[in-house]
Amino acid sequence: MCEPPILDVNKEPGAEEVFKKIGEAYEVLSDDTKKTIYDKYGEAGLKGGMGGRGGPGVEFTNPFDLFESFFGGMGGMGGMGGMGGGGFGRASSRSRTQPGEDGRVELQLDFLEAVFGCSREIDVDRLNACEVCETSGVRPGTTPSTCPQCQGSGQVVSAMRTPLGTFQQVSYCPRCDGQGQTFTACDKCGGEGRVEEVKRISLKVPAGVDAGSRLRVRGEGNSGRRGGEAGDLYVNISIKDHPELRRDGMTIHSDVEISYVDAILGTQAKVTTVDGPVELKIPPGTQPGTTLLMARRGVPKLGSPTVRGDHMVHVRVRIPKSLSAEERKLVEELKELQSKTKVGPFRF
Ligand SMILES: [Zn+2]
Ligand SMILES: [Zn+2]
Repeated sequence: MCEPPILDVNKEPGAEEVFKKIGEAYEVLSDDTKKTIYDKYGEAGLKGGMGGRGGPGVEFTNPFDLFESFFGGMGGMGGMGGMGGGGFGRASSRSRTQPGEDGRVELQLDFLEAVFGCSREIDVDRLNACEVCETSGVRPGTTPSTCPQCQGSGQVVSAMRTPLGTFQQVSYCPRCDGQGQTFTACDKCGGEGRVEEVKRISLKVPAGVDAGSRLRVRGEGNSGRRGGEAGDLYVNISIKDHPELRRDGMTIHSDVEISYVDAILGTQAKVTTVDGPVELKIPPGTQPGTTLLMARRGVPKLGSPTVRGDHMVHVRVRIPKSLSAEERKLVEELKELQSKTKVGPFRF
């Protein structure tokens, strides 16, 4: 739990950095093309070049690998060279450095934590850099040598028959995984350059996040290999229900029940808001189903928390199913009075 309200998170150190991260996360999800790739292939798909051990007959982990294998041989002829982008036109051997994969973690917040933001610590399983070999995977004191199968090119050539004809296919050398080198594996990580560890991460959740928000924490995914950049950590936000309050974006909704007498005469009702209990003035003659608006008692805007939504209070009027003898007498007197004057708020 955190102490609401933390409205001005911009003043806190590192807040700007967090908002930058949020901005990137939202960018990923608002771009339709990217979102399609994301939904289909996850973060790895967006990064294009990574995660791919995709030689022929191997399962492809992202769409670019497919093209790369199919048209890989044409890269040398200049045919595909101009297409740019992560996967295309990569020359000779696979880059020795490989970026780390992105991580994903679910985080459930209390209703008010999401409204006002909070700090949370989360434990993340991930692959950390191997300290023994410093992500190279090479046993210290040994030196990598040229791969005997591909002679250091990182590629092997084979013919592939397709309905369009026979293609010369170039794929990564299976012996050295496209790196052009073989080496003695590090004892600690087995040549992976990374080891599995749990890391505790301090996360600053900004005010105004909603269910389905995705926070991106840069560099907290898996470590890269052979000096490659670390992946990012994506935090998927879900929010617990509140017993009285409901949320629709920046707007809070709640119900208040008053007696029919209070509806006629007006009253003060105690209403729960995200800021705590507030006395709300119910004007005389309030109709059942009326919605009263409490301005700026809603959810702070993500990224500019001094802007706030409203709180809508839906008024329910309680009509008693039974009356005491005295009450009944009074209501009957009221009825009589109405039939004489033909005016008034009652029409029985
Ligand atoms: Zn190692
Ligand atoms: Zn090789």
